Amino acid sequence: MNRKSLRQWLDFENAPQPDIEKICRQATACRESHWGKDITYSRKVFLPLTNMCRDECLYCTFVKHPDSPLANIMSRQQVASTLQQGQQLKCKEALFSLGEKPEQRYSKSAEMLAALGHKSMNDYLREMCEYTLENTTLIPHINCGTLNEADIRQLKPVSASMGMMLESLSLKLMKKGGVHYRCPDKAPKLRLQTLELAGKHQVPFTTGLLIGIGETWADRIEALDTINRIHQQYGHIQEVIIQNFRAKADTAMANHPEPDLDDMMKTLAVARLMLDPSISLQAPPNLQQRHQHYLSAGINDWGGISPVTKDFINPECAWPNITELQKNCAQQGYQLRERLPVYPDYLQRPEFVYPNINSRLIACSGDDGLVNTRCA
Ligand code: SF4
Repeated sequence: MNRKSLRQWLDFENAPQPDIEKICRQATACRESHWGKDITYSRKVFLPLTNMCRDECLYCTFVKHPDSPLANIMSRQQVASTLQQGQQLKCKEALFSLGEKPEQRYSKSAEMLAALGHKSMNDYLREMCEYTLENTTLIPHINCGTLNEADIRQLKPVSASMGMMLESLSLKLMKKGGVHYRCPDKAPKLRLQTLELAGKHQVPFTTGLLIGIGETWADRIEALDTINRIHQQYGHIQEVIIQNFRAKADTAMANHPEPDLDDMMKTLAVARLMLDPSISLQAPPNLQQRHQHYLSAGINDWGGISPVTKDFINPECAWPNITELQKNCAQQGYQLRERLPVYPDYLQRPEFVYPNINSRLIACSGDDGLVNTRCA
């Protein structure tokens, strides 16, 4: 993106309503020219492999200190039974989402892992992904935070895709009082390195921004521009999520204002127009009651929705009913379609997905790369 167009988006911070409506229309047209009238979602089970984490994000209610009686690493039996329920309800995606490397900070976490026969969460994660591939029809998507080269080498053979929210590039958030103070894995440099390594290793990758955590408008524009530049270099960013911060009771941010619908619409439309149109644009429907409006700001995907498990990161926000969502999309002239964890563009590219996993994806997909009627 040249400096002129970047300036244009930076200047959009205080754009009047007619200008916002205009870019929403442009974003909608851009989405329709690339994605047509299909709005997708992924039918998934959510496996929070551990709720312990070495970071302390101020907005997080998912994380539990190892001294808490609620601190947990899912047992093999719990993983197996969740996968089985997902398979019975025709889920395709096994989303393994977990706190970052708790064993590197807490001896208790390391001991819990040792009891399972492992030294690191990623070792256990690999075992559970292997189990998924060997014993179920589900397809692992991994969301375990920052990754180094060894992590990617270890996990790519057992997963279709991976993800890590960039969240923000603002260093201010890392300072005392900021949401990412005492969060070593939220250092922008480390997160950018993860995005780049995923690109070098050709991993279909999901990332995104967390909106309303103390970042500025310029921070959002910089983050979107950076994601797009990395994608232009490696071609691996399959999806960008624009997620609104939700204030939770019992956190230091309980009284922090949440971004409103207009702010989300503006950010979504700008994201749609800044990013390469081949990148899927997603916003979670369970975090905004009036989520149907997002369709007028250029999104083409609702992300993972589970008929089995709750959203463990936002347990107070229920997933929308899939049939209702389908009706709401239809009312606005769109067709809700089920997709796989890997977007259609990557299905025919063996360098991105290992053959044993790709064959499973192909078996479930139709000519358009979305879930076929036999598997839906
Ligand atoms: S890195 Fe994730 S799990 Fe860990 S504290 Fe932050 S939001 Fe919670």
